[in-house]
Amino acid sequence: MIWFFRKKAPKPQADLEATQDVKEDLWVKCPKCESILYKKEMLLALNVCGRCNYHFKMSAKERIAKFLDEGSFTPLGIRLRSKDPLGFKDKKPYKARYDEYVQKTGLDDAVIVGKGKLENKPVCVGVMDFSFMGGSMGSVVGELLRALFEEAITLRYPVIVFSASGGARMQEGVYSLMQMAKISVAVARLAEARLPFISILTDPTTGGVAASFAFQGDIILAEPGALIGFAGRRVIEQTIRKKLPDNFQTAEFLFEKGLIDRILPRHLLRFEVATILDNLISRP
Ligand SMILES: [Zn+2]
Repeated sequence: MIWFFRKKAPKPQADLEATQDVKEDLWVKCPKCESILYKKEMLLALNVCGRCNYHFKMSAKERIAKFLDEGSFTPLGIRLRSKDPLGFKDKKPYKARYDEYVQKTGLDDAVIVGKGKLENKPVCVGVMDFSFMGGSMGSVVGELLRALFEEAITLRYPVIVFSASGGARMQEGVYSLMQMAKISVAVARLAEARLPFISILTDPTTGGVAASFAFQGDIILAEPGALIGFAGRRVIEQTIRKKLPDNFQTAEFLFEKGLIDRILPRHLLRFEVATILDNLISRP
């Protein structure tokens, strides 16, 4: 139940439509190098700063449009919404907050799951969206990911999941923590079926998502500079009473420590993941 907020040679694709959700601003400031970027250009560069390689967050819809073969994606078509098992209320009721995010993002919850093709290879794909309640994992996210793994087993497709999450959804308490175990079982079932799971960690991948399926991939990839970890830096420093290194909980730090297989810039993801699948999937 940990939430993180951080202050914060591309391969352009011709269609801008999937990335035209944001029309209001022409310019955007890079939080890393502080350059002022022309938004259209930045979107064409897969939301990456051309000056310093800072990877901006991507919505799940943008990610699907840019990662999979054009027009190949079909959602699993399962419509679910949280039943608010705790009747949770803080400044406003969870139900009202949930409705607001559905309206604002056009999503049912913080993940999109479905089937598609990657360089002509069939795949099952789950993409989390940080803009829906910080990408938090509640019962709906858990159930959709479970269904994705089950579908992959039925179809004998590999699974690719992009994580972008602050962790378990605190408004659902223990019900959200249960999803960690439930998805872990689904991941194990996929492994028993001898099918690969590629986990791609994007900024941020933290809390209950990092502590469950995100680190259970057969191959674990990450985008440059992504914040990845369980508890926040301050909590850990206060617990162990030690100063942590500056790059602690970055993709680069975790790669150095052997927890991540590769860090891949966004423009290489399509090609590299397709190559990995070629090597993992046995041919007849
Ligand atoms: Zn920059």
